[in-house]
Amino acid sequence: MSDAKPASPHTIAANGRVRQALPFGDRQSFENARRGFIATLDPLIIRRDGGRAAYDLSGMGFLEEDCPDTVNPSLWRQAQLNALHTGLYEVVDGLYQVRSFDIANMTLIRGERGWVVIDPLTARESAAAALALANEHLGTRPVTGVIHTHSHADHFAGVLGVITAEDAASGRVPVIAPRHFAKESLNENVLAGNVMNRRATYMYGNLLPPSPSGFVTTGLGAALSMGSTGFVMPTDTICETGETRVVDGVEIEFQMTPGTEAPAEFVFYLPGFKALCMSEITSHHLHNVYTLRGAQVRDALAWSQQINESIDLFGRRLRVQFACHHWPIWGRGEAVEYLEKQRDLYKFIHDQTLRLANQGYTKDEIADQVRLPAALGNEWYNRGYYGSVHHNSRAVYVKYLGYFDGNPATLQPLPPAAAGARYVEYMGGADRVCQQAHADFERGEYCWVAEVLNHVMMSDPEHVQARALLADALEQLGYQSESAPWRNFYLSGALELRQGLPDGSSFTTSEGIASGMPLENLFQILAVRLLPNHADGLDLQFNIHLTNEEGNEPADWLLTVRNCVLNAFPDRQTTNAAAAVEISALDLKRLFLGLVDAETLIQGGRLSVTGDIEVFSRLRDMFDTFPRRFPIVTPRPAAV
Ligand SMILES: [Zn+2]
Repeated sequence: MSDAKPASPHTIAANGRVRQALPFGDRQSFENARRGFIATLDPLIIRRDGGRAAYDLSGMGFLEEDCPDTVNPSLWRQAQLNALHTGLYEVVDGLYQVRSFDIANMTLIRGERGWVVIDPLTARESAAAALALANEHLGTRPVTGVIHTHSHADHFAGVLGVITAEDAASGRVPVIAPRHFAKESLNENVLAGNVMNRRATYMYGNLLPPSPSGFVTTGLGAALSMGSTGFVMPTDTICETGETRVVDGVEIEFQMTPGTEAPAEFVFYLPGFKALCMSEITSHHLHNVYTLRGAQVRDALAWSQQINESIDLFGRRLRVQFACHHWPIWGRGEAVEYLEKQRDLYKFIHDQTLRLANQGYTKDEIADQVRLPAALGNEWYNRGYYGSVHHNSRAVYVKYLGYFDGNPATLQPLPPAAAGARYVEYMGGADRVCQQAHADFERGEYCWVAEVLNHVMMSDPEHVQARALLADALEQLGYQSESAPWRNFYLSGALELRQGLPDGSSFTTSEGIASGMPLENLFQILAVRLLPNHADGLDLQFNIHLTNEEGNEPADWLLTVRNCVLNAFPDRQTTNAAAAVEISALDLKRLFLGLVDAETLIQGGRLSVTGDIEVFSRLRDMFDTFPRRFPIVTPRPAAV
């Protein structure tokens, strides 16, 4: 970051304390991350069709150096483990992983005829590059099965890099996923997609240049791929713990782990390899009970119980444990100890949060008090590189008690701009606030400086001094953070204050996601986009008939706009429709997602409208568009 400031003496001291407190002499993680290395790409740049990089670790060489003052030493260690260990690795004979070709791992199992691929990454380009690397060094084999461990995009959206949609649709390649996978993956990534995407740019540091004072890691993996995404409907769904499958000769025993790390997830054991795949239920850090990009709060207790069930089901049999992020753990004793300590990590946070909540403490007070015991906290794999004890304990509180703290004084808070203006007025004006904040900045009280200057920013974003000082405070907080998302949030906030909003068009769903999306999800998204002031007083009904059969989608739908709400009813038509529409399901999705316009479809003979075509055309104007880059650290413009 060109505007980046050096670490302050307070930051240097804080990072020095981390260096003293943790067992940096223990290098077992580095040995495990290196073990079984076969080959990688050098430089590691994966390009899109147009030549632009979808994934590029070539600028991460600075991680070879000793930890600079501008990075928490514990996070630096994790960044090194992630970014400096890339490529193809043998876990055991016949079981391989491609790591750091994306944020997640792609795992390949050698079957009788080809590769069974576990989790084909976020982007088609990354997945294709990972498969090509395996084929080049292990012999070319066809993909004979795909397993999606869970409903997060980094585990499925690159699927079209290893198989075609036709491979799955024809049943030629089985695609195995946990129950509710399709619904949850689309809901999590599309229905609230724009706001999650925007917050994800902060969380993953996408806009931060890689450097010792900028992006160093996501914690969960080296970096997130920016390539093309897709989706195929699974052909085989696992519903119950204990279900087994044989895919291309590979035996698999499943355990369901829903509602924990992801709403739809399983883990599985491979008896032929004595290997346990923990999907993303365990990883080499404290994961997120709540993810800062925004998602539903996860269940820390169920999370710990499911790890315990994995120990019970597979602990006696396993020889190696691997997962969909980070490196494996070899040896039964080592793996079981790791599983037990990850189990207790989530349970400790859960139990202690509720102990304090039952004392009457609120989530902010609890987050300030919960500390891991040394037995858990000194294990590198339990450090908060992704989740943090602080925000996870707040999440546990919200899971049980919701966002309200019970204090009526906080029941109706003023929105940030209005509150900010009053606070600043009461505190004697923005200049006076800045003066005091500056003194606190010099004392290293960066959290407080950020809190108080946020009031100035939300009411007076053009206040140059406040803006600069807030950026400086966020930056020092970033330099001190052990959690990569925290660092990335802080530094992204500082960047935005210094450089203004990044450019960006409106949010659109990708063609790949659109084509795989069930119609029910499409109509849900449209309903979310409905502008009430455009729909007010309207009572509209449309008969939609789909001209081709796609999967088991109903062919007839009744679409209504009434009470400022859009509803879609499958297998229903009305005699009072304003218009009847005939279109293919795919074109309907593309039309409503803004990927094609009605005129083009009509001219191409792919859309026919009988009845009031005018009203049908007006429908399009009733949908809101979402700015991809809405302001986060400065006030939002008033909503229409
Ligand atoms: Zn993941």
